[in-house]
Amino acid sequence: TNSAKRALLERRITGRTPIHLGGVWCEKSSHPTNRCTALISLPPLSAPLYIMAKILLVEDNEMNRDMLSRRLVKRGFEVTMAVDGLVGLSEAQSGKYDLVLMDMSLPGLSGWEATQKLREDPAMAKLPVIALTAHAMESDRQQALAAGCDEYETKPVDLARLLEKMNRLLGVTDSSA
Ligand code: MN
Repeated sequence: TNSAKRALLERRITGRTPIHLGGVWCEKSSHPTNRCTALISLPPLSAPLYIMAKILLVEDNEMNRDMLSRRLVKRGFEVTMAVDGLVGLSEAQSGKYDLVLMDMSLPGLSGWEATQKLREDPAMAKLPVIALTAHAMESDRQQALAAGCDEYETKPVDLARLLEKMNRLLGVTDSSA
């Protein structure tokens, strides 16, 4: 999947160019002083390509949304948020994202329904979707996988475990870990 990674990298580079400063990669800021907006402490650009992956976070709970998005941004992901299933579905269908984190319990259209509808489009068949639920029961996991989710995580999120799943689905092997 080297070509896939390369395509991902090139796509990211055209969007936001990371610059190398004093041994760290950082995102170029539009600020006139050209200060970094975020420092990324992983040195080789070839390994952690996931630092520029675009994530769609669909989550109706404001506290969960803020906390998880902040932690992911700190890790270098670009995070867009949607607060309900309908908006989440239409955002996911836009094709702008590399991976979706989908809360299952959402107002209006649930995460299960949104994922099912997303998978009806063949172009969206391979977009990685990780289900997030507050329930740790096997039936919930089965229901999420049956709806078309690739993975399943319970809340509160164990970030290390979530990152491992995200990286695997993004096709990244993190040699710096
Ligand atoms: Mn919810």
